[in-house]
Amino acid sequence: MKIANSNGRAVLVLGDQISDIAQACDGLFGSDPMGVYDDWPAFIEVARSITTGTGPLVETDLRNPVPAPRQVFAIGLNYRSHAEEAGMALPEVPATFTKFPAALAGPFDDIEIVGDSVDWEVELVAVIGTVADRVAEADGWSHIAGLTIGQDISDRHLQFAAGAQFSLGKSRRGYGPIGPWVVTVDELTDPDDLALGCSVDGEKVQDARTNDLVFSVPRLIAELSAVLPLLPGDVIFTGTPAGVGIAHQPARFLQPGQILESWIEGIGTIRNRCV
Ligand code: ZN
Repeated sequence: MKIANSNGRAVLVLGDQISDIAQACDGLFGSDPMGVYDDWPAFIEVARSITTGTGPLVETDLRNPVPAPRQVFAIGLNYRSHAEEAGMALPEVPATFTKFPAALAGPFDDIEIVGDSVDWEVELVAVIGTVADRVAEADGWSHIAGLTIGQDISDRHLQFAAGAQFSLGKSRRGYGPIGPWVVTVDELTDPDDLALGCSVDGEKVQDARTNDLVFSVPRLIAELSAVLPLLPGDVIFTGTPAGVGIAHQPARFLQPGQILESWIEGIGTIRNRCV
């Protein structure tokens, strides 16, 4: 099942059609894309009965599928390949920061390039479906509503100013495009092993698999929920693999006019123009 945000309304994606959720379920769920997380198990039941489209899928109508999470977690150094290129030891606990929710954006939104050190980081993004509080790793996946694609766009200069301030340096407005939709975990053959990557103007710069994650998605649920509850609709950026711009020799960063395209196997593609 694919859940998207079409011009501000929650929709199911059915092939090349969308079905407006509020219309299709007679108002059991409203049009707010966050409303599906109010009662995720009930939503899944209702959504299963929706099989006919109410209109065509139009890419340019797609907005952030999870536009107002209460908490956004992001994990640094969570791929062996990326820790290696950064010359850092593998962390013993997830290196966690936030992207402030107001920085999130849609799957085809423009990225405003501020300064000369704006970098790409393709990431698998997990969306919480039901409250996760002190959850065992073995039960981690059962709390996930679905997965989507994210770009943890980073202003490297701001990120390392004042020592280190990851949260601010990764939260410029629009620096967290996600989408194009949330894919439920049951649609993926092996959600622990997905190909992911991104390209700049068609040149592939990141190319990896999520089986290289240091802390897997269910392990992250266990680690984070040991500290505080994870709430329905929360978003977790799970970290980026090797190939970020700052690790290139010489370093390269995003420039206005470039197209950043990011993909994950079984989910789809997002595309952002740098302006
Ligand atoms: Zn990141």
